[in-house]
Amino acid sequence: MPPKMRTHYRIERANGGLLCDLWFLTRGCIHDAQGGCTMCNYGKGSWDVQWEEILSELEYIVEKLPWEFEDFLLTPSGSMLDEREVPLEMREGMSKLLKGVRAKRFIVETRADTVNEGGLEFIQGIMPDSEKYVEIGYESGHDWILRNCINKGTDTGAFGKAAEMIHQAGIKVTANVGVGLPFLSEKASVREAVYSVKRALEQGADSVVLFPYHVKHGTLLEVLYQHHGYQCISLWSLAAVLEKLPKQMLEQVQISWYKDYFGEDRSHIFASPSTCGKCAKDVMRLLDQYREEPSGKNLDAVLKYHCECKEEWEKRLDGQSAEVEYGRIADEYRQLAKEFDVNDDILEEELMIMEKTAGDIKD
Ligand code: SF4
Ligand SMILES: [Zn+2]
Repeated sequence: MPPKMRTHYRIERANGGLLCDLWFLTRGCIHDAQGGCTMCNYGKGSWDVQWEEILSELEYIVEKLPWEFEDFLLTPSGSMLDEREVPLEMREGMSKLLKGVRAKRFIVETRADTVNEGGLEFIQGIMPDSEKYVEIGYESGHDWILRNCINKGTDTGAFGKAAEMIHQAGIKVTANVGVGLPFLSEKASVREAVYSVKRALEQGADSVVLFPYHVKHGTLLEVLYQHHGYQCISLWSLAAVLEKLPKQMLEQVQISWYKDYFGEDRSHIFASPSTCGKCAKDVMRLLDQYREEPSGKNLDAVLKYHCECKEEWEKRLDGQSAEVEYGRIADEYRQLAKEFDVNDDILEEELMIMEKTAGDIKD
């Protein structure tokens, strides 16, 4: 990341009010430095992090924010509660900086394995009038998929433990669930997302956010996209996930990142979930409406909308398997191994582990 891109903020409408997303660059996600998630580029931080400059830029941004927010999301390029990424001094700086900000909910993002008592105390102390949420990348409710399709580095058990600890501190938990997982067909990914939302709620999530994946520069997903035909999902698949959930659950299920924020500039994001040129604006408006108030009524408005691209999407999915196809995943692994010159023994050992454990995927 160029140093000039070390802070950023975005204000949008969500949950009946304004959502502020305040982002800052760190040295990057520690898990990414160890391999990282296949779709994420948060490892591409900067080794030369100038905390004073970042704080002063954030201060400049915060001073310009005169509004009261519904949601205020503080998000580093990785995990807020990993002290290797966000040192304690930086946390203290953030607490002072955000003193004057008013928000109904204050949210931080962090990996499940970074949740600890010290971190939770920091969240309890910051913006004292807000309800607190810890948002965790859950992605999938199956450990097999977390290991073999995402390389998440944590499993569903880690999420469960983190959720328990967060609740004990009087803080709420949000699980981010992925739609458009690498190595799965779009149809299987829809099915997987439906399962994952339910499983995350069972495991203690107070709310879930659906994240359709984009193809970002510097990720394994980029390689799959460039050489192996990975495609971003259609936004009709995002609507299909919501449609397959029980209506009463929808109040707890939000959507995010369904927009292509970078437009023509493809230097950071190569491809984004979409529909067709004819309906794109309308679909975006309807999804925005759902985001403003997640409900059966607002979902129905999306589902009732008709466009030819929806028929094409339906036909495409009809021809796909809804299962996690081990054979297809193994083939893609073989192709990737060739491309990255991975030793055959390592590859075969890995495939054997995957095959043996493939039965763990159940509905
Ligand atoms: S999704 Fe989260 S845990 Fe995975 S590489 Fe990105 S920041 Fe790290
Ligand atoms: Zn269309």
